[in-house]
Amino acid sequence: MLPLSRFAELHTPFYYYDLDVLNRTLNCVKSLAQARDYRVHYAIKANSNPVILKHIAGSGLGADLVSGGELKVALEAGFDPSKMMFAGVGKTDEEISLALKHHIACFNVESVPELQVIDSLAREMNTIAPVALRVNPDIDAHTHAYITTATAHNKFGIAIEDLPQVVEQTQRLPNLRLMGLHFHLGSQITIMEPFQMLCHRVNELLTYFEDHGVHFTMMDMGGGLGIDYSQPESMAPFEQFFDVFSQNLNLRQGQQLHFELGRALVAQCGSLISRVVFVKENRDKKFVILDAGMTQLIRPALYQAHHKIENLTAKVDDVTDTYDVVGPVCESSDVFAHDEMLPVTHRGDVFAIRSAGAYGESMASHYNMRELPLSQFSR
Ligand SMILES: *Cc1c(COP(=O)(O)O)cnc(C)c1O
Repeated sequence: MLPLSRFAELHTPFYYYDLDVLNRTLNCVKSLAQARDYRVHYAIKANSNPVILKHIAGSGLGADLVSGGELKVALEAGFDPSKMMFAGVGKTDEEISLALKHHIACFNVESVPELQVIDSLAREMNTIAPVALRVNPDIDAHTHAYITTATAHNKFGIAIEDLPQVVEQTQRLPNLRLMGLHFHLGSQITIMEPFQMLCHRVNELLTYFEDHGVHFTMMDMGGGLGIDYSQPESMAPFEQFFDVFSQNLNLRQGQQLHFELGRALVAQCGSLISRVVFVKENRDKKFVILDAGMTQLIRPALYQAHHKIENLTAKVDDVTDTYDVVGPVCESSDVFAHDEMLPVTHRGDVFAIRSAGAYGESMASHYNMRELPLSQFSR
């Protein structure tokens, strides 16, 4: 539970991370993955707080990167470059060179121009770049439009129909080594069907390329496993998720299966702790105005996400009322929840916005010249 007495003297807002919840999650994933010989890479962008990163690196997971900046923080946190994958549609020459210098495990490549640039930079550095091709499998993950990444309409990956030709082009580039294929369906996926469809798509591709004499050593299924935002601290359905792949995917001899999990690893260990600045009444509405806003946690404003909200100061048997819980930022979208039933709330009450460990602190901004959130840890 959240230690309200510890929060009382602290300057708000801040992120509070429960490292027991994090460790429990990491141990669960590690044992399930080890039993199946799967490799798991943590998607750094979900939360790049240095203490969180150190814990995850210490647990032995690899890292999934989307920028040179993430490569730098991952190195500082102690992640092993031989367990780093680098994704992203717009890797700059500088970022590619930095990753080549550190001999990362694999570039997940999203276009032909990118292949050509990685090949020529690797040649200049007299090295061979390991690459996987990010395929757009055209599967609708049934999640929010802004976090679906694998339908034909969005910018990510190489279209399936172009893949045979791109594989040939890759094989002709002398400073690239083609390791395999990479997929990533989107984020906050809470049903297993999209992952099952992905397995079937991958099976078709493996058969096709086997028939054409192409052998892959690595298949990277990406991340996207969702969590239950209505149950703070609950575990993501990792076993169900991994079982989908062990039951549906026909891997060939010598093929290594990789995953890139972000949210499911860190979301439940974090809470955003904030104080009530004012309680305000308009004609037919009551507002709780917090000292945290979309600059600390943008998910509600950006993805219409709902986080569980708790008034930590209130007593269990306090009478309730209905409030819109909002931030102080000058944007109408700076709302954490509409018509939330809460104990009767007063100026100065301490609030927790739960399950905020993923895409919370890492997406914080200075907008309105606000300070970036601080962080506190359970020990
Ligand atoms: C963001 C991202 C992930 C992690 O997604 P989650 O939904 O946090 O699991 C994995 N792979 C790639 C390529 C990504 O961009």
